[in-house]
Amino acid sequence: MPQELFAEPRRETALADQFGRHVSYLRISVTEHCNFRCSYCSPEEGTPFYAREDHLQAEEYDRLIRIFSGLGVRHIRFTGGEPLIHPQILSLIGSAHRHGVGKISVSTNGLLLGRRAAALRQMGVNNLNISLDSLDPEVFARVTRGGDLGRVLEGIEAAILAEIPRIKLNVVLLRQNNGNDLPVLVDYAMQRGIDIRFIETMPLGEAGAAAQEMQFLSAAEAQQVIERQFGPLQPVTRPADNGPARLYQLPGVRSQVGFITPISNDFCATCNRVRLTATGRLVYCLGQDSGLALMPLLRGSNSDGQIAEAITRGIWRDKPERHRFVDDPSRSMAVFMMRLGG
Ligand code: SAM
Ligand code: SF4
Repeated sequence: MPQELFAEPRRETALADQFGRHVSYLRISVTEHCNFRCSYCSPEEGTPFYAREDHLQAEEYDRLIRIFSGLGVRHIRFTGGEPLIHPQILSLIGSAHRHGVGKISVSTNGLLLGRRAAALRQMGVNNLNISLDSLDPEVFARVTRGGDLGRVLEGIEAAILAEIPRIKLNVVLLRQNNGNDLPVLVDYAMQRGIDIRFIETMPLGEAGAAAQEMQFLSAAEAQQVIERQFGPLQPVTRPADNGPARLYQLPGVRSQVGFITPISNDFCATCNRVRLTATGRLVYCLGQDSGLALMPLLRGSNSDGQIAEAITRGIWRDKPERHRFVDDPSRSMAVFMMRLGG
């Protein structure tokens, strides 16, 4: 157990940082493997893999989820890489449910959703984000480097049929690939009564940096394109710490459209999240690779209380005030999105 983590007096029992923010949301990347290679996320050859023994085991996830839940984490998102390729994904989700985490989310590319949707619902998933960057099979295959759009669309239908309470489509804004198709994507979501969110490309890793340089499309511009088709969007008010999207109601339907603006308007002041990688590293900010290695603590002889203490102090001491995508992109260049999980 690194001693410096115990050097400061205890300040808070709940997870808090030095900038007045409380952490109640944990995003777990259960694998750095993926069955797609999206051009803005992954190098063509994929992300370098860690050895199997360096990955957290199911019982280690279970222990960490119990500890985080005890520290006040109320929302866990399972992500990746592609979380649905993890052979024990359902039991990991079951851990969150068992340890009283009220909000359980999954982010997926949808390829394996057709056969998993009903089981996800049964295990207590109440929020599902599905990436969908285009409804054109050729564009989709180009962006994902070979992805099968038809299977993803079947997966979306299966999730709707399984009655997962909140389903959102996530679209990364890519000027050349989907800049003209945003209304088609909105229409698709509206027809199904599900939500859709547009995300500005972040310079995460070389793939993200290249996509941002060549294809950046701001959320403001995307909103103009959508309003040209659907008329003015009505802003939805909600608590400031309830996620980074600016939300709007689409006229006459249940669906909401959201814009996530990490580049044009950062939302770091309301950040309530930390991330856990598949190798057990606690990461405090998406745009910076610094973090705390929990694996040695888990595999050493530390009690849950000692690990909880290390997490509490790490977040207090090291969670940075904001990302540096714009003023110092070199910090995020080293980040592999597939390891961190978006
Ligand atoms: N494989 C799953 C998926 O695609 O939804 C989960 C992991 S993926 C890393 C999580 C989210 O990050 C996806 O919505 C993806 O589009 C988004 N993402 C990946 N690279 C990005 C980048 N450079 N900028 C913005 N969003 C990105
Ligand atoms: Fe895989 Fe998701 Fe990254 Fe695409 S965005 S390569 S599906 S992890």
